[in-house]
Amino acid sequence: MSQELVPITVAKGDGIGPEIMDATLLVLEAAGARIAPEFIEIGEQVYLRGESSGIDASAWQSLERTKVFLKAPITTPQGGGFKSLNVTTRKTLGLFANVRPCRSFHPYVSTKHPVMDLVIIRENEEDLYAGIEHRQTDEVYQCLKLITRPGCEKIIRYAFEYARANNRKKVTCFSKDNIMKMTDGLFHKIFEEIGSEYPDLEQEHWIIDIGAAKMADTPENFDVIVMANLYGDILSDVAAQIAGSVGLAGSANIGVNYAMFEAIHGSAPRRAGQNLANPSGLLNGAIQMLVHIGQPDVAEKVHNAWLRTIEDGIHTYDIYREGVSQQKVGTREFAEAVAARIGQEPEKLAPVRYNPNAKVADNNIYKVERKPLEAKTLVGVDIFVHWPGTDPNEIHAKLASIIDNDQLAITMISNRGTKVWPGGNPETFCTDHWRVRCKARSGTEQVIPVSHRQLADVFVRLADAGFDFIKSENLYMFGDQPGFTRSQGE
Ligand code: NAD
Repeated sequence: MSQELVPITVAKGDGIGPEIMDATLLVLEAAGARIAPEFIEIGEQVYLRGESSGIDASAWQSLERTKVFLKAPITTPQGGGFKSLNVTTRKTLGLFANVRPCRSFHPYVSTKHPVMDLVIIRENEEDLYAGIEHRQTDEVYQCLKLITRPGCEKIIRYAFEYARANNRKKVTCFSKDNIMKMTDGLFHKIFEEIGSEYPDLEQEHWIIDIGAAKMADTPENFDVIVMANLYGDILSDVAAQIAGSVGLAGSANIGVNYAMFEAIHGSAPRRAGQNLANPSGLLNGAIQMLVHIGQPDVAEKVHNAWLRTIEDGIHTYDIYREGVSQQKVGTREFAEAVAARIGQEPEKLAPVRYNPNAKVADNNIYKVERKPLEAKTLVGVDIFVHWPGTDPNEIHAKLASIIDNDQLAITMISNRGTKVWPGGNPETFCTDHWRVRCKARSGTEQVIPVSHRQLADVFVRLADAGFDFIKSENLYMFGDQPGFTRSQGE
């Protein structure tokens, strides 16, 4: 094992951040972590100096050097104009995987789930977090959900590699592909594709609504769960909370070349400066970091000393319970208690063993190569129109007189995804946002290509007629598979 010091970038953050970071570093030093911290300033003061992302050029330079970031929580100032530092860091450094272990510590930390020990692996860069939102009409706002094949491949492969490296037995996928057939459908499909390369691991898929209910009810039946960004954001907080407390969980953000480690909670400004906060979340993030930088021996020492401290009933205020806890301590005293137990193991809770190869395989396997282009045929367009009327037959009559000709015709109109023409139901509520599907005129089911020029001509005619088209989506066939869904009722 290398004895060289590994440079890491450390940010003490805001609120309780400096106290919990000092506590964490005290424990790491006591355990003999072979690290050389470089300190940077991020967060509130940097935002207030006018850096809208909360991080400045010198901090980025340190990160470029070390590629490993141990980060305390920061306070995002109230009011507009400040970008989330977390989202900026994840996206800039390509931190595609968010790894959140959630384990219960019964009977020392109160929980309804005594044997819970699961890991949520959340996709960290895409989905609804692309931040592409628009107001399109008086009544309608939209947020684009972008799911990519490379994004799915990376996160799902990571989940399987993580399971293997950490002696986990099962990987579960949560998605909502019964409704979002193309986006969540891709996530599920790639789970099956990549899963076939890992026959040693048990695999299952749940539709996320019932999957989430089962996770909250019987978390002991889950091991590693992989999911898209928004689902993972929500369910990892649920899992951490039902395990005992969001204040205990750490989080790793992993990319091909960079990684960031933190607590899952925020800067808790009301607790700041009082030596009250529990440093366990950040300490658990730091344990993940030690594994990542190839020091699983130190990670194991710190983890077991921490478990022993919890088991000895030495608790900060947030988990202290009369009758169960032995001693209520502050942030610093808790860290000193963990440091004093380095070399000891828990006696009742299961001690942790880190596989010497627990760092997830060679990162090159996450470098996704672009696949050969597929045969792609333009076969129509969905034009979204802002029209304040309410009668689908009326909008069809108006638009058909502009759009329909001997080459193209309106084949369907929907409102909020439900078909309202032809043959809609009068009960369907209609907003001011209409989708008008146009395809080549054909007497048969056969798909006929159309040209971009034909579509451009439709837009010119709509503009001349004074119609407000707010966006369009081209309809493509990829080989013989449609690249679009039917509307409800189509
Ligand atoms: P929070 O997680 O900071 O605090 C919520 C409550 O949880 C606190 O009032 C406290 O009672 C408790 N708590 C949290 N961490 C604790 C700990 N270590 N020990 C004991 N008790 C703890 O959430 P919030 O109040 O919604 O957010 C405060 C600030 O933190 C905001 O500015 C928010 O933007 C920021 N935030 C930062 C991060 C991050 O940097 N990763 C994450 C979430 C929130």
